[in-house]
Amino acid sequence: MKTALITAGANGIGKAMALAFEDAGFNVWITDVDENSLNACPKNWQRSVVDVSNEPQMMQLFADIKAQWGAPDVVCANAGIAGPTAKIEDVDLTDWNACLGITLGGAFLTAKYAAPLMKAQGQGAMILTSSTAGQHGYPNRAPYAAAKWGVIGLMKTLAMELGPHGIRVNAICPGAVEGPRMEGVLEREAKAKGMTRDQVYKGYAGGTSMGSFVTAEDIAHMAVFLGGEGARLVCGQVIAVDGHTENPDPKI
Ligand code: NAD
Repeated sequence: MKTALITAGANGIGKAMALAFEDAGFNVWITDVDENSLNACPKNWQRSVVDVSNEPQMMQLFADIKAQWGAPDVVCANAGIAGPTAKIEDVDLTDWNACLGITLGGAFLTAKYAAPLMKAQGQGAMILTSSTAGQHGYPNRAPYAAAKWGVIGLMKTLAMELGPHGIRVNAICPGAVEGPRMEGVLEREAKAKGMTRDQVYKGYAGGTSMGSFVTAEDIAHMAVFLGGEGARLVCGQVIAVDGHTENPDPKI
């Protein structure tokens, strides 16, 4: 049976990915810092309480995976935090470092410890969750945009390093995803801009050709495609699942 590891798999996009990989016949292993949510996930999933930015914890995670699975077939480096909503002059260095450390550093550590196992296996797929913030500027979200552009640079480099070992590496850029995380972003942006939550929501949706937010399941379907045989020669690609965002915030 094929295997899939998903970081930040206890909620949101990661949980939708785990469900979709399970539906596609994979054994699933999720990690998260949210122990309660991890415990609420289906009992047959492997799970570990791991902070993606903590190197000893990540080292231990991959030692455990090696002992149980040998190597994962698919690794979704999905963890990331939104970081502050603030003008650049108001961004605190501590918040900058936390956002970069988890969002970009977590993807780095995931790749660092997955790569040797996957190389030994001689095949596999890594899927990095970036964002449309990794394709465009994102006013008042400098740490997040910088981290998500960094994820793209990491992915492009990994694709070159690992492709020759049969490991495909791609990035998904979700647009604005319906759910609690975007609700928090909408609230913070509304407050910062003196607007209502609905005005900000319409600004995001109206900035896409399809006029819509996406769902976590939309992202999960793309991850399963990228992790499967149908994508056997898809490598080094940045794939937006966003309803086509040219300007993510056109009205504000
Ligand atoms: P979410 O807030 O619903 O879930 C995030 C999960 O990450 C939570 O379970 C949380 O406990 C976990 N987490 C937080 N810090 C962690 C850490 N240090 N180590 C391990 N786990 C940690 O968020 P989501 O919307 O599912 O986001 C998942 C990914 O998708 C992130 O990388 C995010 O930046 C990206 N993304 C989200 C959106 C969106 O609109 N929601 C858009 C583009 C990209």
